[in-house]
Amino acid sequence: MSDITKKSLTELVENIKNKKLSSTDVTKAFIDRSEKSEKLNTYITNDFTSALDKAKKFDQKPNFNLKLPGIPMAVKDLFCTKNIKTTAGSKILNNFVPTYESTVTENIWNEGAILLGKLNCDEFAMGSSNETSFFGNVQSPIDKNLVPGGSSGGSASAVAGQLTPVTIGTDTGGSIRQPASFTGIVGLKPTYGSCSRYGIVAFASSLDQAGPMAQNVKDCALLYEVISSYDPKDSTSIDFKRNHYSKELTNNIKGKKIGIPKEYRVDGMPKEIEDLWQKGIQYIKDCGAETIDISLPNTSYALPTYYIVAPAEASSNLARYDGVKYGFRAKGENLIDMYEKTRSEGFGAEVQRRIMIGTYVLSSGYYDAYYLKAQKVRKLIKNDFDEAYKKVDAILTPSTPSSAFKIGEKTNDPVSMYLNDIFTVPVNLAGLPGISIPAGHDSKGYPLGLQIIGKAFDEQNILNIAYAMEEKINFKNKITDWWIK
Ligand code: GLN
Repeated sequence: MSDITKKSLTELVENIKNKKLSSTDVTKAFIDRSEKSEKLNTYITNDFTSALDKAKKFDQKPNFNLKLPGIPMAVKDLFCTKNIKTTAGSKILNNFVPTYESTVTENIWNEGAILLGKLNCDEFAMGSSNETSFFGNVQSPIDKNLVPGGSSGGSASAVAGQLTPVTIGTDTGGSIRQPASFTGIVGLKPTYGSCSRYGIVAFASSLDQAGPMAQNVKDCALLYEVISSYDPKDSTSIDFKRNHYSKELTNNIKGKKIGIPKEYRVDGMPKEIEDLWQKGIQYIKDCGAETIDISLPNTSYALPTYYIVAPAEASSNLARYDGVKYGFRAKGENLIDMYEKTRSEGFGAEVQRRIMIGTYVLSSGYYDAYYLKAQKVRKLIKNDFDEAYKKVDAILTPSTPSSAFKIGEKTNDPVSMYLNDIFTVPVNLAGLPGISIPAGHDSKGYPLGLQIIGKAFDEQNILNIAYAMEEKINFKNKITDWWIK
């Protein structure tokens, strides 16, 4: 393994700034490793040739004032990239080449980073294992039998496998934090409204957020600082005072009050997860912070609420794929027949399931009983957090109820797949920030993550807590390179 790809983003930036490495050196190293990674199936599209050109151009006229000077980076294929195919992991967008750039990726390129390619994901970000992608499943660099998590599975696998120094994913119900936890990396789901949704293929608009995925907390803070911005092109973007998250990062969390919600102790949770959580509580105390038992009474309603709200919004968002305006079109006898064939051939089974659930809960006879009720429960879940934050500064939970599961293990049982997001969905429903950090291994040596949930716009605080804990945990990812060609 090249030493370059082992370096953190922060180290690479320093090395480029003090001219120990050129952007070409760094870009080449990540391309070399990516080219050997076919078995992982992380890339849907690569842009290696033009990445190298861009790196050479950067080296001829470097700008060291940028935050990501000449840093190569692959991104989830849910972000529209101008003139580069963007599929959202779906057959229906298999030939879609956007004429515009998403705001978050634009922010990244404006700071000097260079696109390496587009990373595999669950179809329209619907999934927890990266097995719903039209382009095939992604494998975990940890073990070839394991899923990397989803929907940002390609992103997680690429960061853990060191094919990209950092990346961005999206999180509607856990898609950054859950794969981060499964692959032993750090993933932040920011406050709703902090990163623009402009140019991101929509899944569930009131829940979707982009966020950074990285090898460590500092890299995560730096990338968050780059992507978080007010954007008039997104009507839900919020104009709040943003920090210099990486510069203001501190491991001094003395006196902070961290809530431990009893409802996250779910039935059937493996002992290993409970033990990890207890260890997390000890780490918090070792950092000089205090833990307080709290209650989030409506937690058990979060998953059913999510699986009404998210499909409802998805069914509405996905109505645009009709074979006329975008992507794939099937032949039909007439217009209606063409619509039907396009959608039944273009969407995979999980996406069709969500569309059916969504249209059902929004239909006139059932709207009040399901959709409206779910919106009311969503408010109660948000109220639980508001109440808790009167007493605590942040909340600590496990990220997932288990370590990574095996490929194929849950594909025939959607409900057990959905249950994997039990600890992450409440955070999206309440619009809050949450970060997953690697915190230990299970008995099989697979990574396990802890989640820190913050108040809205309090990313600095949860990054600081994560930073302090990271130092104590001193996690080492067990990457075997089994997949190297
Ligand atoms: N696994 C969840 C789902 O399938 C969350 C996905 C996401 O966050 N994009 O809906």
